[in-house]
Amino acid sequence: MKRTEIKSLLNEATIGAEVNVRGWVRTKRASKNVAFIALNDGSTIHNIQIVVDNALADAKLLPKVSSGAAISVIGEVVASQGSNQQIEITAKNLEVLGEANPDEYPLQPKKHSLEFLREIAHLRFRSTTFGAITRIRHSMIFAVHQYFTQHGFYNIHTPIITGSDAEGAGEMFQVSTLDLNNLPKKEDGSIDYSFDFFGKETNLTVSGQLEVETAMLGMSKVYTFGPTFRAENSNTSRHLAEFWMIEPEVAFNDLIDNMDLAEDFLKYLIQYALDNNMDDLLFLSNRLKEEEKGKPENLRSMELIEKLKFVLENEFARVTYTEAIQILKDSKPNKKKKFNYIIEEWGADLQSEHERYLVEKHFQKPVILIDYPASIKAFYMKQSEDGKTVRAMDVLFPQIGEIIGGSQREENYDKLKNKIDQLGIPEEDMWWYLDTRKFGSVVHSGFGLGFERLMLFVTGMGNIRDVIPFPRTPQNAEF
Ligand code: ATP
Ligand code: MN
Repeated sequence: MKRTEIKSLLNEATIGAEVNVRGWVRTKRASKNVAFIALNDGSTIHNIQIVVDNALADAKLLPKVSSGAAISVIGEVVASQGSNQQIEITAKNLEVLGEANPDEYPLQPKKHSLEFLREIAHLRFRSTTFGAITRIRHSMIFAVHQYFTQHGFYNIHTPIITGSDAEGAGEMFQVSTLDLNNLPKKEDGSIDYSFDFFGKETNLTVSGQLEVETAMLGMSKVYTFGPTFRAENSNTSRHLAEFWMIEPEVAFNDLIDNMDLAEDFLKYLIQYALDNNMDDLLFLSNRLKEEEKGKPENLRSMELIEKLKFVLENEFARVTYTEAIQILKDSKPNKKKKFNYIIEEWGADLQSEHERYLVEKHFQKPVILIDYPASIKAFYMKQSEDGKTVRAMDVLFPQIGEIIGGSQREENYDKLKNKIDQLGIPEEDMWWYLDTRKFGSVVHSGFGLGFERLMLFVTGMGNIRDVIPFPRTPQNAEF
């Protein structure tokens, strides 16, 4: 008999129909005459209740029907007596597909901590929380591609192994097939990479931007959505060593167009989640409320769905770096030295505590900060007339801080070349990128949205390790 997914069963089941459902047992409750099984197959957050009569021939299998076991049930859809669900299945036939020894199966039907679930990442897809996150994550991936498709963008697969470390500045993972115990050396004692796989030093990419810019000059509107890698040793709740980044790049767009695109794109994604993932969002919202019950009211965050709607309904504040520095200098936490990093002068790099102050306390809505000092931003950003700032933009979100980093790019060959020389970036790495400014160069802009940062915001989760299936962080590459 063909399997019916629990999601479609709950959406369109006809009372009296005979169906086959398969999935993993969440809980089993036995009474004198019947057993109640809560079954989940991942298609929805909701379980289907299976009622097994102890008189049923297969009922002797019931001891094997424990949490985590995989079962297949054929039965009749009936209206449920219970208050938690509309329908349930009266089992006619029960088959245990895969047992899960209760003495060994770590996921018990009780609330587990997120830390514990991380230690069993291979099993956490069966927890309600991680199931919800997984469905939302898929939904957001789909929405990203749908948004760009609807807006005439082309998806470009940029390389994961890169030969240039221009952007990385020492934060890259090296890729090599050389024998670490027996490295070929040049006469001066340095490693001879001509013997390496690619005949040169290579790394995992930190961004697909430079390559996607080449595609932009020809295709006009492009984006890359791929894995990026950073060997930065920042053990925070917002950094991963391997994360996914969405990087659109648009010809003829200036910084204002870039801000408009970023805001429209983020709002589209959030609206998509509200339209398509409400069951999962409601669960996560309640979970968050439970978690925050102990906290004093003024420290609790806004209810998740309210927060998502709030972002949709408000225009992002657009503020220059210079204005932001003034606001921060005048702020209470700066004056009372409550920030870990005190803002003293123009030119200071902003930490996430400052970004969050601007968003959560001062503006109380998302903020786009523009026109940063050139000295704290990347070499490719458009140099302003003032000679001090570049046309950069960071989008700052509540609880997250920076969710997007982007800019208008320097399209002028001479200016870009000067900058590259000043910074001592080797020309042999950059010749092809500089070529783009020689042949049909145009004003253009783009940005990078960290996909897991978006996931943090949409799910309300507090730790980035809980919104990616298999997190890679310093000292951790299990699974
Ligand atoms: P941050 O200052 O938060 O470390 P960044 O300025 O180094 O970020 P960018 O180089 O601008 O980041 O990258 C673009 C986007 O990628 C960021 O806005 C953020 O959403 C995301 N991002 C950057 N680093 C990480 C990381 N280690 N883990 C997850 N997401 C990241
Ligand atoms: Mn950034």
